[in-house]
Amino acid sequence: MTTLMDGKKLAQEIRTQLKDEVAQNGLVPRLAVILVGDDPASQVYVRNKQRAAEKIGIKTVDHHLPATVGQEALLDLIYQYNEDPNIHGILVQLPLPGSIDETKITHAISPQKDVDGFHPINLGHLFMNKPYSLPCTPRGIMELLAHYKINPSGKDVVIVGRSNIVGRPMAALMLNADATVTVTHSRTRDLAQKTRQADILIVATGQAQMLDASYIKEGAVVVDVGVNRLEDGSLVGDVDFESMLGKAAYLTPVPGGVGPMTIAMLMKQTVEFAQRG
Ligand code: NAP
Repeated sequence: MTTLMDGKKLAQEIRTQLKDEVAQNGLVPRLAVILVGDDPASQVYVRNKQRAAEKIGIKTVDHHLPATVGQEALLDLIYQYNEDPNIHGILVQLPLPGSIDETKITHAISPQKDVDGFHPINLGHLFMNKPYSLPCTPRGIMELLAHYKINPSGKDVVIVGRSNIVGRPMAALMLNADATVTVTHSRTRDLAQKTRQADILIVATGQAQMLDASYIKEGAVVVDVGVNRLEDGSLVGDVDFESMLGKAAYLTPVPGGVGPMTIAMLMKQTVEFAQRG
């Protein structure tokens, strides 16, 4: 039997807890949200984050800038919020238009206000097992596993994908949790032979339904990070959900698995920053 890991329900519980925490402690967390350009997916992501924040009692200060905005103007805005003691977190929605150097922007955000956990200083802290701010998707996955009492300690964890926002920080978090970690990617030879070793398999490739049941061993925990829209409009993950049923012990659905946890962790980190003052 496969247990579905309900990220939607857990994320809702976390958001309710955060709302209570904010109210009880009289906090007014403030998050600067910067969206550049008119990418439809980014607009949806930003709107979801703003709505989630509002329900918790986090105030957002919203900027929707045209794609033509200059890099210097964007940097100036970030510097302004870095200095503003009333702003606890700064979020710049990625991807940015090609004319803007994303790395430069990510690095300009003060590490103390880096709610996304993408700043190299925060990634450095993470790799040294002294985290300050964590990338939200991997943090959400750790919380989801903990909720289902899945302890990575001593387990063989295989991660498919090595991006800076998912695969790499996920590997660090798993190592910090005493797992034995294998990170695989597009140059990995005999991927299935590696993934079949996994007690916990985390897939973040951006390739729709790429891994079917032949890639896992019986009883594996499978976390599907992928979000892919098929031509018929439906959303699917990076694993073939149906084929995993019955073979995986635990599985995240798409949608409703990892995605909601990412937003919940963004909210959690914003509240934590406000508490730190
Ligand atoms: P990314 O930056 O495109 O990285 C994809 C990774 O997968 C790369 O490391 C790539 O290897 C590897 N890969 C691609 N094809 C492969 C193959 N055939 N075999 C083995 N490895 C392969 O993607 P990302 O930003 O990490 O996102 C991954 C997926 O997660 C996407 O579907 C994205 O939409 C989703 N996502 C979801 C959330 C959420 O909150 N639910 C958050 C972030 C991302 P190379 O490095 O060798 O190219």
